[in-house]
Amino acid sequence: MSRPALTEAELRDALLATVRAMGTARLNTGTAGNASVRLADGMLITPSGVAPEACTAADMVIMRADGRTEGRLAPSSEWRLHADVYAQRPEAGAIVHAHPPFSTALACQRLEIPPFHYMIARFGGNTVRCARYATFGTQALSDHVAEALEGRKACLMANHGMLVFGRDLPNALALAVELETLCEQYWRTRQLGEPVLLSDEEMAEVTERFKWYGRPSERTQE
Ligand code: 13P
Ligand code: ZN
Repeated sequence: MSRPALTEAELRDALLATVRAMGTARLNTGTAGNASVRLADGMLITPSGVAPEACTAADMVIMRADGRTEGRLAPSSEWRLHADVYAQRPEAGAIVHAHPPFSTALACQRLEIPPFHYMIARFGGNTVRCARYATFGTQALSDHVAEALEGRKACLMANHGMLVFGRDLPNALALAVELETLCEQYWRTRQLGEPVLLSDEEMAEVTERFKWYGRPSERTQE
């Protein structure tokens, strides 16, 4: 049975709680990063240049599908990026963009994360790509991210950070924490030398298992 949709007030609270949790999880500091959640007609997005501790739920900005905004503050400078992901990826219900230490370190090396660990399959494929560099807040950056997200739920962003989308805010936040954890593991692995990578066949098996992983009634499957 599906849960009833959240009201706008509940979504405002949930979005504020998500950006605050991003700070607690050390995904962001200060005004870095932003997050949004899909609405029936547009999105609710964090304001630009305001630290989560200084925000209230009323400060979250509504941006309609036609680009009109409703709110006291300006929407995140990355609104194009968020709007384009919702337009291009119907499965995206919420987006988290962050500058966490390990993801950003790898993104500054412009590294694609290979299948060094089975959890890479969580993001929809055998790699997590790194989007080409463009200035923050530009259409070019959004276009590069769209390219890197093809068939994926996440990407690194060259000399910038990472972006993850999920079905809702808790899912997007959990995936962002998972990606940062994988980036730390990859960083540490590379300290020891080149990792042994999983094969396409091994990753295909993992992808198959993830179809039922975490679903209580199907846990007994082999
Ligand atoms: P905003 O404060 O405008 O959301 O910008 C932060 C950021 O991370 C830009 O890429
Ligand atoms: Zn950013």
